[in-house]
Amino acid sequence: MLAAKNLEVVYDDVMLVLRGVSLEVPRGRIVALLGANGAGKSTLLRAMSGLLDVHDGEVRRGEITLDGVPIHHLGASRIAARGVKQVMEGRRIFVDLTVEENLRVGAHARPRTVKVNLDRTYQLFPVLADRRKKVAGYLSGGEQQMLAIGRALMSDPEYLLLDEPSLGLAPLIVQQIRDVIVEINAAGTTVLLVEQNAAMALAIAEHGYVLENGAMVMDKPAADLLADGDVREFYLGLG
Ligand code: ATP
Repeated sequence: MLAAKNLEVVYDDVMLVLRGVSLEVPRGRIVALLGANGAGKSTLLRAMSGLLDVHDGEVRRGEITLDGVPIHHLGASRIAARGVKQVMEGRRIFVDLTVEENLRVGAHARPRTVKVNLDRTYQLFPVLADRRKKVAGYLSGGEQQMLAIGRALMSDPEYLLLDEPSLGLAPLIVQQIRDVIVEINAAGTTVLLVEQNAAMALAIAEHGYVLENGAMVMDKPAADLLADGDVREFYLGLG
């Protein structure tokens, strides 16, 4: 299990952004993390994947654990080597490299399994197989998102942390991304999904959390969150 316990995170030494946050991601599940803009969702993912320091953030109190062992002091590459990998918001692919080159970069930690993982990624995303020799900068937004997810999968992570994979994408593409997340999970990868699209996230997650101003205000089975009046009003727009 990947977990955050009483986590406090500050940026630039002073700005307290997470105020004692706890969250559990049991192996094999899909867990959704919801919340308004600026609530601290990306910050929590960065803490879990070791990317905080790139953003001048730091864990001030509490801990991130993997199977009970603290990992938050390790840094992104060592955390990735333990099987926890984040797909960043905004996609951050290498726009000048081809699709396949991007995927191979993602495999750097596990060179021996490149072929198997490439095949698996192309199976999950046939559109990437069609475009394997194309420069990534020319892909559509949805294809770039698929490439970003595919690249993270190339290192065969046990835990995949997804930061707003549906952001800015057309409904049909959102549906494809959702289906792929379900497929990735069915094949054994645990998923922590940060989403503005609460309806999509709660439709596929077993459990959901809601962050508000750096504090966890809800922690319930996804079905209960879907039935919750406040969640329906504020996050699903259903009143
Ligand atoms: P969004 O959906 O807008 O990304 P979020 O819930 O993911 O929102 P975060 O991006 O974690 O929220 O931001 C939480 C707070 O931390 C915000 O007030 C934001 O301005 C601040 N913040 C984020 N990154 C940094 C940084 N590198 N340095 C300073 N403050 C930051």
